[in-house]
Amino acid sequence: MLPIKLILFDLDDTLLHFDDYWEFSVKEVFSHHFFTKEMNVNELFDVFEQVNQAMVEKLDSGQITLDEYRTARFIRSLEQVGRIADEELAFSFESLYQSMSQKNMKPDLRTKKLIAELGNHYQLGVLTNGSKEWQLAKLHAIELIDVIPPEYVFISGAIGHEKPSPQIYQHVLGATSLSPDQVLVVGDSWMNDIAGPISQGLNAIWLNRKNKQLPETPLPLAVITELEELRAILLPQRL
Ligand SMILES: [Mg+2]
Repeated sequence: MLPIKLILFDLDDTLLHFDDYWEFSVKEVFSHHFFTKEMNVNELFDVFEQVNQAMVEKLDSGQITLDEYRTARFIRSLEQVGRIADEELAFSFESLYQSMSQKNMKPDLRTKKLIAELGNHYQLGVLTNGSKEWQLAKLHAIELIDVIPPEYVFISGAIGHEKPSPQIYQHVLGATSLSPDQVLVVGDSWMNDIAGPISQGLNAIWLNRKNKQLPETPLPLAVITELEELRAILLPQRL
């Protein structure tokens, strides 16, 4: 039997999927923001999506921070359509995006059910990069805020360290008084949710929904394509 006591879920693209609310929300913001509302929203979205993808790769490989990612994706997209935007505009876009996209995030009933079942056997928590307010708003929107105790919600913006920096995993161990082998991280980012935790002795399961290639090392406990596969791995099997 595994010694795992605490399962820490990543939030973005693990408990809550961008694809479910992203395109609709971004277009909605472009058509409301004073700087973009006269522009062709569909064209701008296509550019934004491409730029965003390139920036996500930089973010995932640790070349830029979350704040840099958020401002750069806006400024560079506008640049590509011949408009000059500054950081202040990028922040105003981001804050409008945050307030408007929240209502497009819906709870996933299958995830809620799985979380309830896992909660009968393990302590559950969340380990996520982002600002405290925004990440809590997302947890609220997907109706998991009352399921995960606040002391097990670990948000980089509140802690002062981002995944995959070793300090954030050490912070979790200190705050929960658990040993590394008692903690399991489940998430979609190889760097943040697999390589980072394993380097500190934690367990990790990779949610690889898009079938990305698996790096050879380090080896996670398991690779899954849907969260529901956790049932077979982590719950005692009924005979
Ligand atoms: Mg993620």
